[in-house]
Amino acid sequence: MNTPNAEWRDLDALHHLHPFTNHASLRAAGARVIVKADGPYIYDSEGHRILDGMAGLWTTNVGYGRRELADAARDQILELPFYNTFFKTTHPPVVALSQKLAEIAPPHINQVFYGSSGSESNDTAIRLIRHYWALKGEPSRRVIISRKNAYHGSTIAAGSMGGMGHVHQHSYPVYEGFRHVMDPCWFDEGNDGESLDEFGIRAARAIEDEILAVGPENVAAFAGELVQGAGGVKIAPNTYWPEVQRIVDKYGILLLADEVITGFGRLGTWFASDHYGIKPNLITFAKAVTSGYLPLSGLLIDDRIVEALLAHDDDFNHGYTFSGHPVACAVALKNLEIMERERLLPRVTDYAAPALARMLGKFKDHPLVGEVRSVGMMGAMELVADKKTRRRFENPGRVGLICRDHFFREGFIMRAVFDTMVCAPPLIWADSEFEEAERVIGKALDLTL
Ligand code: PLP
Repeated sequence: MNTPNAEWRDLDALHHLHPFTNHASLRAAGARVIVKADGPYIYDSEGHRILDGMAGLWTTNVGYGRRELADAARDQILELPFYNTFFKTTHPPVVALSQKLAEIAPPHINQVFYGSSGSESNDTAIRLIRHYWALKGEPSRRVIISRKNAYHGSTIAAGSMGGMGHVHQHSYPVYEGFRHVMDPCWFDEGNDGESLDEFGIRAARAIEDEILAVGPENVAAFAGELVQGAGGVKIAPNTYWPEVQRIVDKYGILLLADEVITGFGRLGTWFASDHYGIKPNLITFAKAVTSGYLPLSGLLIDDRIVEALLAHDDDFNHGYTFSGHPVACAVALKNLEIMERERLLPRVTDYAAPALARMLGKFKDHPLVGEVRSVGMMGAMELVADKKTRRRFENPGRVGLICRDHFFREGFIMRAVFDTMVCAPPLIWADSEFEEAERVIGKALDLTL
């Protein structure tokens, strides 16, 4: 770790393959080396201070530099750094965290199964969903319906459940039994003259059409991110989720809410399922449960599924060495304590979400911007070739990358999903951060034009 800063980039190029990266262009330009972080800022090896508009990767909800989280990790490492939870053993941090999660989860959910990443927790959900239907004597129910543009992770199963064409191009879906329907993004899919509410119902009915096409007796579950994040912060109209709930109830299929991004306050509620008033059978979470200070993920499981497990005297043959890692659980508990003590959830609702909406809204008349949208602390700006017709650029992603690089140079991080600029700041942003972001976005958009 004593390597001089200038050498990190060369060593990185020699030895480190990055996730989701064009390695040829990375080799040419070199990676930016991030060396430390504090509050809402990260710092690179050349001494630049950068305002992190993506909370790491939808993750550091309480911001960087929290000594309490470091202390919680250190104390737990000294007490019990690791023990597995496989063979009828448990430990205090995993018990305490599970109790806490059951307290903040919707009332019909009382059990947690842990992993270390969102992908793992979605794999757990997929296996458990199919296991559930086998236990219920309906093994033909194997199909999981999800959506185009969905991101559920990078493992083979979660990747197959996801619906991003450019991810699938490499090798997915190699895992059978997934069907993808339209996503509820009005900007891409809405018809001229169709109201948002009408569109929301039409998008939900695409799920029903698919259930009928596959045969309801073959459908195990519908899975969706409550707000599609990596797909470009695609926010469903208000009519969508209640209609989805009606449809899954009608056909008796399970509802899996992927809350890997939306869990733990991003929409001002513990879970976005509370925000949208739906009752999923399964909720996957990761990222912000520890504010990213350590890897931890999990699957919240409703009583109906747990009862089916308990009714069979047999193993659910699934798990990870680090399921319920004691240090990660201790950090998660402290992170949730901080969120409660600092009242970050009401802060999002009362202050931060309206401030983000206001800040992005200032750019809705910019000639490059076709739409701005946000919910809670997630927002997006669509960069378009033609504002009036919503026409996108011919070479998708080129303008988005130019814009992202302008942000970067100006000391601000916002992500480009092709030509959709997305942001998801930590929940602690105050007026000064919103003002700084507004200044940079205005300048970067003008430079991109
Ligand atoms: N689900 C959603 C909604 C995500 O956004 C992500 C990652 O961004 C995942 C699952 C996968 O999580 P991980 O990268 O921790 O495997």
